[in-house]
Amino acid sequence: MTTISNNLQRVHAQIAKACEQAGRPAGSVALLAVSKTFGPEAVRDAAEAGQRSFGENYIQEAVEKMAIVAEYGLPQPLEWHCIGPIQSNKTRLVAEHFYWAHTVDRLKIAQRLSDQRPEHLPPLQICIQVNVDGGANKSGIAPEEAAELVRAAAALPRIVVRGLMSIPEPAADFAAQLAVHQRAQKLFADIAAQQIAGLENFDTLSMGMTDDLDAAVQAGSTMVRVGSGIFGKRSYPNAA
Ligand SMILES: *Cc1c(COP(=O)(O)O)cnc(C)c1O
Repeated sequence: MTTISNNLQRVHAQIAKACEQAGRPAGSVALLAVSKTFGPEAVRDAAEAGQRSFGENYIQEAVEKMAIVAEYGLPQPLEWHCIGPIQSNKTRLVAEHFYWAHTVDRLKIAQRLSDQRPEHLPPLQICIQVNVDGGANKSGIAPEEAAELVRAAAALPRIVVRGLMSIPEPAADFAAQLAVHQRAQKLFADIAAQQIAGLENFDTLSMGMTDDLDAAVQAGSTMVRVGSGIFGKRSYPNAA
């Protein structure tokens, strides 16, 4: 068995244990494998071990990787999620190549993604990225503005607003991680309760990475994004 396949098993076991400790049903948390900076072979190894959803930050790099992976003839179709910052000049690539985008934090980006989503593809599934802990230079909309963006994005025809996404600053311990993830969960629940038109599929809270996975699951994450825990340490100097 490859290391990647072993790591995937370990991460699945960790998620299952965290679900149990949180009193949540097994299988209530999806695993997104974050393959940024790793080559197409790493994606292939993970896919052959059963992984289906992959997260990428660098859009151009991702599109090139997808083209190579498509040639492998893998047993299942893969689902690619954009989890990196989306500038206006990259929306077309995202709309044409990804199944999900987690990092929508302005209406202009949502609008362009909807306009540019090709007719032959299903609507793009998006999350609104929220800057839950208020880091000054961070992307993500302020929590108090999130509901309004959700409402506006939900009205667009070619995207489906699936939920919220957050990337908190690394926190020292479990309690601190839990506190910030719980803020995201509360915001998610508040918005879900508002009965916004077009928000029938608001079911995703994308939060938790390798180092804060347990706290994220405890707080109610429905999709964890795990990179180094599956693929190993990243070596690009610019890897975030
Ligand atoms: C890199 C990255 C991850 C994965 O981080 P790890 O600590 O390697 O698990 C998850 N989410 C986002 C947005 C990332 O940029």
